[in-house]
Amino acid sequence: MKYTLFKTAFATFVVTLLSVLVTWLVAVIIGNPISITALTLSAVLPIATAFPSLYILFSKFQKLADQHQLLEVAHAELQARAKIDHMTGLLNRESLFESIKIARSRIETGALLMLDADHFKAINDNFGHATGDRALKLIAFAIENVTRKGDLVGRIGGEEFCVFLPNASGDTAKRVAERIRSEVETTPFYNIDGTQYPLTISIGATTAPKNETNSQIMSRADRGLYTAKQRGRNCVIFVSETNPETQLVTEIHQKSA
Ligand code: GH3
Ligand code: MG
Ligand code: MG
Repeated sequence: MKYTLFKTAFATFVVTLLSVLVTWLVAVIIGNPISITALTLSAVLPIATAFPSLYILFSKFQKLADQHQLLEVAHAELQARAKIDHMTGLLNRESLFESIKIARSRIETGALLMLDADHFKAINDNFGHATGDRALKLIAFAIENVTRKGDLVGRIGGEEFCVFLPNASGDTAKRVAERIRSEVETTPFYNIDGTQYPLTISIGATTAPKNETNSQIMSRADRGLYTAKQRGRNCVIFVSETNPETQLVTEIHQKSA
């Protein structure tokens, strides 16, 4: 409002000045002495007409600029929201995979973990979907709790999660995966009648060398996850990149679910 008034006053001043100058110039050219009336009119008329019309014009411009700014903020917010899984606050599938692609193009190595909640259907069946949702949030919180800021954490399916650890070695991958597994296992989870219920996840882990595609790495981590499920769940299976042919799988932890 203040800015619009200032702009209007300034523009009116310029227009008035021009009007007076032109009036004076015309008087000089035709060789007549300029009358006070002409001079007054040349100043008053632009003030009377330019000020209100310029004020309306500038106000409309300002309104449009404000609306444009609001739209830009809303657009940025929508873009940010589109990357997030609403239930857990983690990255969603698309944005996680996109972020992994970008991260891998900038670094030499890293590690990938595929995580899947154990016997999750039983939680839903026994206690209802809302309790299942609460369990998913607890798992997401546990994963975030033990990963670092630069790690990429996402929910890629119903009760499936994925973590990319930039620059991590195989040993780091095993250590972080095990930390996540243990964090979930020790997270207190109570069902609707207040009794504690076991909450566990299985994890497949592998390294992500630069020469491999995302899908090669993911299918190796998936193979680890599949093996973890077969071995009884609540465990981490690391699949070595150097010996994929023989499907060498190293189990580093196992506990009964
Ligand atoms: P496994 O240990 O072999 O992984 O067994 P599981 O029961 O976890 O696996 P299964 O694939 O049979 O079931 C997955 C369940 O996860 C079924 C589905 O209803 C549930 N689920 C998927 N997404 C959601 C969700 O957003 N909220 C809730 N509450 N449940 C979900
Ligand atoms: Mg699953
Ligand atoms: Mg599952």
